[in-house]
Amino acid sequence: MKLFNDDTLNNRPLVLAGPCSAESEQQMLDTARALAAAGIKIFRAGVWKPRTKPGGFEGIGTPALEWLAKVKQETGMLTATEVATERHVRQAVDSGVDVLWIGARTSANPFAVQEIADALASYPQERRDSLVVLVKNPVNPDLELWIGAMERISRAGITRLGAIHRGFSSYGKHIYRNPPKWRIPIELHRRLPDLPIICDPSHIGGKRELIGPLSQQALDMGFDGLIIESHCNPACALSDKDQQVTPDVLAYILNTLVLRDSNSTTESLGLLRQQIDRLDDELLEILAKRMRVARDIGRYKRENGMPVVQPGRYNSLMHNRVTVGEAMGMSAEFVGSVLAAIHEESVRQQLEICNGEKAD
Ligand code: PEP
Ligand code: MN
Repeated sequence: MKLFNDDTLNNRPLVLAGPCSAESEQQMLDTARALAAAGIKIFRAGVWKPRTKPGGFEGIGTPALEWLAKVKQETGMLTATEVATERHVRQAVDSGVDVLWIGARTSANPFAVQEIADALASYPQERRDSLVVLVKNPVNPDLELWIGAMERISRAGITRLGAIHRGFSSYGKHIYRNPPKWRIPIELHRRLPDLPIICDPSHIGGKRELIGPLSQQALDMGFDGLIIESHCNPACALSDKDQQVTPDVLAYILNTLVLRDSNSTTESLGLLRQQIDRLDDELLEILAKRMRVARDIGRYKRENGMPVVQPGRYNSLMHNRVTVGEAMGMSAEFVGSVLAAIHEESVRQQLEICNGEKAD
């Protein structure tokens, strides 16, 4: 399915870029002018911001819609913003916003999505046909809930519908702010092959350094587009400052991306590398989980006055794991050295706990 009438917008990758939130007219226009000069055709900015805790910057609200209209008028870019309530839909549509997206917190709530769907359904079909609606994955990794949200919007007569993968909330520290579970958008594509799927590397990574690698990974996996946060002065951004890039940096990142020809002979190598990348991510997650358990053991040892290193346990653990590893086709030296390195790091972390340097 094509999201836009103008085919230059449908070319892969489709890119939406702009600040996390609309902060001031100056910030919007400065960012938009630079993005337009870099060839970006769709400008995003959050007018209403859902914040995890009260007291954060919750967006400028209605007055920022005029700035979006100005951006459109001055640069010719299409505009996009997040809607979460019936009022947001009415105000955004009535002020001429072209693309609406439903945020991850909202798409997890069927009542809220239905309210948005009902508001959209109240417009004449011709108006609905002119709107693009993008549904972010819900914060929790529930494909049915994501598909259900899109079904509600589709039943409201929205014909240009797309999905955004922005990763999933999770407890604890991770490499990613919202770890991507690529299996879920891949399964979504299998179930709905015509649905355009866009990747949001900014909210997945949470750090600007991860935008390039995540964008490349998404393109290699066949995503149709990218939505990337860009701010004229990221250090002063009122929300998500660590993950925003200047328009110049964004242009640089986009230039480095390689669009692989799906017929080329390197495609299978690309697919294999993606598997390796995914497996490495999983390995790191498992290692981090193992360290958390090791720290819990460290606390237990501290409370019970036990020594950190217990040679008997270490030797039997080594012996058993090396035997299992060899049976799986890996050399004893390799398994032994990996385990020794893991054990060394566990001991280091437990010593920190026992010495009271780092209680957590
Ligand atoms: C956003 O795009 O600025 C945003 C709030 O995203 P999400 O709903 O994915 O957290
Ligand atoms: Mn944001």
